[in-house]
Amino acid sequence: MIAVLMICPGRAWAQGNLFETLQGPQDEGVSGQEQPAADPVSDPEPEPEPAPAPEPEDTSVDEDPTSSEPPRIMAQQTLESLISEIIRNILSQMGGKLPPGTRIVVILPPGTCPNSPVTTTKPPTTTTPPVTTTPPTTTKPTPTPTTPTTTGPVPATAEEKRAFSQKYGTQLVDGDSAWSKGQLGAADEVFARLPGFFRSTTKDIKRERMFRNPYTGQVSQGVLGYVRSDIPNRVHMMDLAATAGNLAMAKSQFQGTLVHEMTHTFQNMHPDITQAWNRQFWSSGRPNPPSVSGYGNTQMVEDMAESVRTYFQAGARMKSVQPARYEFIRKYVMQGKVF
Ligand SMILES: [Zn+2]
Repeated sequence: MIAVLMICPGRAWAQGNLFETLQGPQDEGVSGQEQPAADPVSDPEPEPEPAPAPEPEDTSVDEDPTSSEPPRIMAQQTLESLISEIIRNILSQMGGKLPPGTRIVVILPPGTCPNSPVTTTKPPTTTTPPVTTTPPTTTKPTPTPTTPTTTGPVPATAEEKRAFSQKYGTQLVDGDSAWSKGQLGAADEVFARLPGFFRSTTKDIKRERMFRNPYTGQVSQGVLGYVRSDIPNRVHMMDLAATAGNLAMAKSQFQGTLVHEMTHTFQNMHPDITQAWNRQFWSSGRPNPPSVSGYGNTQMVEDMAESVRTYFQAGARMKSVQPARYEFIRKYVMQGKVF
């Protein structure tokens, strides 16, 4: 399960219960060093992560958006210091602990959000750099960099990457980490099944070891993948996205992350469709009906990304439990292709 939270500075996309959390009475500051040990986000001595159990696709509903207040504007300077509050809020809604293997990814795109009514992307300012931060996973300590054990350490050859590009029109780019043969194969499976209408908004996919904030240089090890609003067609995939308890889980996680992130490039290129999603499911400012996952309830764009991922990975089940979202994706995102 991947929870990716996109927070949009200075705009009205972080809404409802998030803002209540952000401005709630128990603001404890940024570092969290003084927080109770029960807080899994900041626990200084986290337990070793147990082998993640295979988890069913989360098509359950989350009953909790608690606020019907209109969106409020949040100062950029306060965003980073409030990330931990958001995570605590998410955790508390899930009973204080996420299922093993769950990751929460917080994305704070520079400028405006992909689907913001204002489509112009602002460059970062010097005084208030946009920040993309990521909390650590709930049970996993951060010290050791994770190597992609799952899809194989054998690097893909330049020829293989070139063939992928020629086949799909999407470049596989090595960053400070490299595409492995296994990851390329997993991506090829995804691309072979997705309609060109959807996949064509992703122009390149860059492999990186771990997330490094482009403005502060700060490294975060809990990120699976992200899309920057100022590089709207690029998906970034971290080593962590290819790491899970066994090969099948790792492949599923990598593919699910990829589809989720590709949805963000799709949103960047199709604001009309994204706004239609907003009107249909978020007209009141919160999801109706609730999203496919707890994280999908946090923001409209994440609801859509989580729903597309679920459509791709667990379509039959989604069709029965989320018929409206399923039908929207079938018609407007996948051009009739069913999963
Ligand atoms: Zn996302």
